[in-house]
Amino acid sequence: MDYKIAVIKGDGIGPEIVDQAITVLEAVSEKCGISFVFSEVLMGGCAIDKYGLPLPESTLKTCKESDSVLLGAVGGPKWEGLPGDSTPEAGLLGIRAGLGLYANLRPAVIYEALREASPLKPGIVDGKIDILVVRELTGGIYFGERGRSEKGTPNEWAYDTEKYSVPEIERIARIAFEAASKRRGIVTSVDKANVLESSRLWREVVTKVSKDYPGIALNHMYVDNAAMQLIRNPGQFDVIVTTNMFGDILSDEASMITGSIGMLPSASLGSGKPGLYEPIHGSAPDIAGQDKANPIATVLSAAMMLRYSLGENFAADLIENAVVRVLDKGYRTSDIAYYGGTVVGTREMGRLIAEEVRRAEF
Ligand code: NAD
Repeated sequence: MDYKIAVIKGDGIGPEIVDQAITVLEAVSEKCGISFVFSEVLMGGCAIDKYGLPLPESTLKTCKESDSVLLGAVGGPKWEGLPGDSTPEAGLLGIRAGLGLYANLRPAVIYEALREASPLKPGIVDGKIDILVVRELTGGIYFGERGRSEKGTPNEWAYDTEKYSVPEIERIARIAFEAASKRRGIVTSVDKANVLESSRLWREVVTKVSKDYPGIALNHMYVDNAAMQLIRNPGQFDVIVTTNMFGDILSDEASMITGSIGMLPSASLGSGKPGLYEPIHGSAPDIAGQDKANPIATVLSAAMMLRYSLGENFAADLIENAVVRVLDKGYRTSDIAYYGGTVVGTREMGRLIAEEVRRAEF
């Protein structure tokens, strides 16, 4: 099977970390007999430098014709101060809109070998912490009607509107239930149904969709309680599904309990292909070109790509297990070397993970 992968390395550390994900995918290819055809395209600051705009039409076209898109990161000081629609980050918004990506999946995993990195106390993070936040990305209050009165009037006002339709809720709920069916089988739907009408509809629709997934346990939680429970007992969560704004906040909270930005991947999915896979961090201009960046978030984004866009669950497991083994052996990039270990650079970390993939026995 040949998979077409559009590769956007981007700016800053982007090229260094994406190169390592490709090294690991090449090892997967040898091991599993699947093959990848990589097409490199430009987006972000490097596209501004070459074409004068952050998301050239040709880049979007190649992405649309691919099975999935692997992205490093975009932006940096060189392009700061450009007008809003011509910044590298405008390329990101453009590609998400252009590919119709309405679901954002962000796992937050605490690795045994990095447990000390979590800001939470031992005892709270003792068990397995592996949470997937599924956030609705193109609806809700960020896209609803808004308005503001004239500035400085005595009763000055402003408003934003939270609005969700049944199809919007149904499709994100399905993504969550499908994801849970490949994990521990628990969906927690987060809303504010004690106050908001839109949340009451959210709850009704998620409950209705759950009937199609009899093997999955569904529970509902108010967002204020969910914010507390993530700190109090994060081990109870498997998949969290929620609205755009609640997901924005809770996915940041969940990722921070792991304590390591260089480790966290993400996926953005729409209807059908292609999905977009990228680390949650930015282009880290402060360490670009120094072989210091942690490539693991990007390597794990490639694993998500195998699982969610290509249906290659076995290959995805292979990568995730290889990362665990490399960490268990004590190898660390400098951002995660809290208590020593063998500190390695970006390229060596990529090589070690690829080697573990090749070594896996099955
Ligand atoms: P950042 O995530 O790039 O960096 C924050 C801090 O984390 C820095 O100290 C950096 O060195 C460190 N860091 C980040 N990723 C790392 C990794 N893989 N390994 C080791 N350390 C890592 O955030 P920032 O500094 O706020 O933004 C820098 C640029 O990235 C800006 O231009 C911003 O707009 C852009 N950005 C892009 C994306 C994206 O492409 N999706 C996301 C966020 C920020």
